[in-house]
Amino acid sequence: MLLTITTTHRPATDLGYLFHKNPAKCQTFELSFGAAHVFYPEAGDDRCTAALLLDVDPVGMVRGGVRFREGLLDQYVNDRPFVASSFMSVAIAQVFGTAMGGRCKERPELVKTPIPLTARISVLPCRAGPEFIDRIFGPLGYAMQTTRHPLDEKFPQWGESPYYTVELAGTRTLGELLTHLYVLIPVFDHHKHYYVGDDEMEKLLAKGAGWLASHPQREAITYRFLKHAPSLARQAIAQLEQEDVPAGAEPDADAPKVGEPDDREVSLNEQRIGAVLAALRAGGAKSVLDLGCGEGNLLRELIKDKQFERIVGLDVSIRSLEHAAERIKLDRLPMHQKDRVKLLHGSLMYRDKRLDGFDAAAVVEVIEHLDPPRLVAFERVLFECTRPGTVVLTTVNREYNSLWEGMILEPASAGRPAITKLRHPDHRFEWTRDEFQTWAKTIAERFGYAVRFLPVGPEDPNLGPPTQMAIFTKTTGGKA
Ligand code: SAH
Repeated sequence: MLLTITTTHRPATDLGYLFHKNPAKCQTFELSFGAAHVFYPEAGDDRCTAALLLDVDPVGMVRGGVRFREGLLDQYVNDRPFVASSFMSVAIAQVFGTAMGGRCKERPELVKTPIPLTARISVLPCRAGPEFIDRIFGPLGYAMQTTRHPLDEKFPQWGESPYYTVELAGTRTLGELLTHLYVLIPVFDHHKHYYVGDDEMEKLLAKGAGWLASHPQREAITYRFLKHAPSLARQAIAQLEQEDVPAGAEPDADAPKVGEPDDREVSLNEQRIGAVLAALRAGGAKSVLDLGCGEGNLLRELIKDKQFERIVGLDVSIRSLEHAAERIKLDRLPMHQKDRVKLLHGSLMYRDKRLDGFDAAAVVEVIEHLDPPRLVAFERVLFECTRPGTVVLTTVNREYNSLWEGMILEPASAGRPAITKLRHPDHRFEWTRDEFQTWAKTIAERFGYAVRFLPVGPEDPNLGPPTQMAIFTKTTGGKA
């Protein structure tokens, strides 16, 4: 399966900077379902093309435990290696994640500049007919060329296949084009047996922010995503999630990875949990929600304290919930404890009645994982619908990053603070103390809460603490 992206912007070889991949090199990245090769079939000043070639290994997938629904033969003979599918989205995210996120140190201005781009998807499966391709990509303003392939070139009488070569041309930022491909390619694929994990699903929708809501086919697109959700195979999730960004694939490769906090984060983590527990205890809460509970760091401590009679952890990632269940030994809890502790799969972006009626909620290091355009949804779900008496929320203090070695991108100068890396590849933003407090005060006012702030971790006189915590206390009973 081949995806190429061509530009005629001059000098066209700038495409290499935007992709963070050198046009002179052919690079290979091992993914959980095969290999992704990146190379440039042409790289001149007038025209440059980057190619992403996916080499999906169907036999390896079977050995790796992925189940195919259609039977034994289908395990070995299927179209997975040849068509653009959710695999392509996963590869785009893993190999071109920085470009999709619109980050480029060498050409920061070019990232934001729309340039002429043509994407060519060599084989897109579309059983709904060519009109469906138009309906999906057309509203985004691309000029399209679609070529349908016969079932077999040697036997034209067999008729047409459901496979197309699709070319999309437009003047776009590379980030926009990659985001559209990332979200829309899986929409065409009917296969359910192998798909991205639930938190990836959340990310798919997050990537639609700003354009999906106004897309005339938004329901078809969303339906086709959600249709896949019930059939997520455990093995598929495990296989996909186990491989994070491939080592060396991205310039941020030296940043701490998911599930791999470095030492400074380990002890800070303990201090954070301690501070959150203290705030929950002081508020007198008997029932507590741990929203975005991750692998259960806080849950484990809550369970030890008898003050907390009802404890619910919620997370969007099934894999994290599985870890949390193991960590708190959920299946070995004595009978009387079983009703006390529950884990829920869900998203903080959607109203969820299961979260109603709790005294307090902890939201620990979660907000910075949410896409800024979707914060509004989160705010309403938590402070307007769920509305616990107390909310204890922590997040990174970005200012503190410059005290850590290797985090500075540009040192402070002439009153401007240092520009630093984000602490984690999945962070969508990191707030300064000012930004966090302004946000929290606005929320408190809007929804009828009082708010106070506490530092967590060693405080620097100029840059503050590494973690910042806000404690919201409900002042009005009604809905805002
Ligand atoms: N609170 C935990 C985990 C923090 S990591 C701790 O302090 O250890 C952030 C967590 O938020 C991840 O587990 C992630 O899956 C979860 N998350 C991200 N977006 C979410 C959403 N929309 N709804 C619920 N959980 C989400």
